[in-house]
Amino acid sequence: MKVLVINAGSSSLKYQLLDTANQDVLAKGLCERIGLDGKFTYKAPGKTTIKAVDVAMPTHSEAIQAVLDALVDPENGVIASMKEIEAVGHRVVHGGETFAGSVKIDDKVMAALEECIPLAPLHNPANITGIKACQAVMGMDVPQVAVFDTAFHQTMPPVAYTYALPYEYYEQDKVRRYGFHGTSHKYVAQRAAEMLGKKPEELKLISCHLGNGSSVTAIDGGKSVDTSMGFTPLAGVPMGTRSGDLDAGILEYLMGKHGMDIQEMVSILNKKSGVMGVSGVSSDFRDLEEAGAAGNQRAALAVDMFNYGVKKFIGAYAAAMGGVDAIIFTAGVGENSPEQRLDIASGLEFMGVEMDEQANKVRGEETVISTPNSKVKVLLIPTNEELMIALDTAALV
Ligand code: AMP
Repeated sequence: MKVLVINAGSSSLKYQLLDTANQDVLAKGLCERIGLDGKFTYKAPGKTTIKAVDVAMPTHSEAIQAVLDALVDPENGVIASMKEIEAVGHRVVHGGETFAGSVKIDDKVMAALEECIPLAPLHNPANITGIKACQAVMGMDVPQVAVFDTAFHQTMPPVAYTYALPYEYYEQDKVRRYGFHGTSHKYVAQRAAEMLGKKPEELKLISCHLGNGSSVTAIDGGKSVDTSMGFTPLAGVPMGTRSGDLDAGILEYLMGKHGMDIQEMVSILNKKSGVMGVSGVSSDFRDLEEAGAAGNQRAALAVDMFNYGVKKFIGAYAAAMGGVDAIIFTAGVGENSPEQRLDIASGLEFMGVEMDEQANKVRGEETVISTPNSKVKVLLIPTNEELMIALDTAALV
């Protein structure tokens, strides 16, 4: 089945056309600066690449139209007509407690998505705009599916998702741990089971999605039982520019001392903290590795803090599950940094982790990077959220 996967942001829209039968990516690209000057990028195997060319995109509808025009273009396109697209899968950030899995979109679902807006005020409105634009341009007959970042984590038990706050904040205001990156954690967990030749139900996994945003998830028997991100994606390990977990008492202290309001404080926690804030150099781990090697101690400290933070979650989740069969590394850092993987796994020998330094010298390829004798397997698995969205969409349609 040919499925168009859409990841709509407020002024951008990523797309991929996939054939779920053979998991081929037929075309992919990006619409940027929607509502501004509109830039369109398109790549398809064997075709001419279009890179950031000007296309008028006052709204997401023109962006979707530009995508469809490129896909059916007689010379450069990959399908003969729009009718070949059998379904559209949308990445939606927040499904609240309403959605524990992907869902075919109808009026009731749209209303429920609107209700989730207060939980993700920056992301969900853009996702909804993307869905409405597809409906407007492609018509209501093409089935559309919503795939949520939060859904995979809806299996967490109350002991993992409840905050130690007055209980009415959960009951009335829905304040609880939701977790994010669910599509990625679900995908790599499924791949891990296949790589290990086991059923997901037989495995205790810890998956480390380490990128610009990072989260660690405990997956017991194929189900997420705890995850490091929380009510928002600000929680957990330190990230590119996000602080991760910190003592909430710091907020009042700094706001009082520097005369900041809560918006300024939260902006600092989201945009100026993490490895960027500690290093003062960059949010990109490649820059930090380089600066650290050249003797910049704050850059080295930032990377060490990040690795230490991930290691602590691995220990915590092994304890929470009463053991672990495999640890998975994925996303930008997890797939590309042998040094950071080694640093994170070092010291975990006591719990049966034995890294294979030679096998670990690999980037972006599904590989077992622990020794054959390692009691706990360590796996590098490139994530593929678009494929997961396409497969979920095809299954529902
Ligand atoms: P993501 O958010 O998954 O796209 O990951 C992006 C991050 O991956 C970047 O900010 C980089 O810090 C990191 N990254 C990508 N390639 C490498 C690499 N070769 N070595 C270390 N980090 C990398």
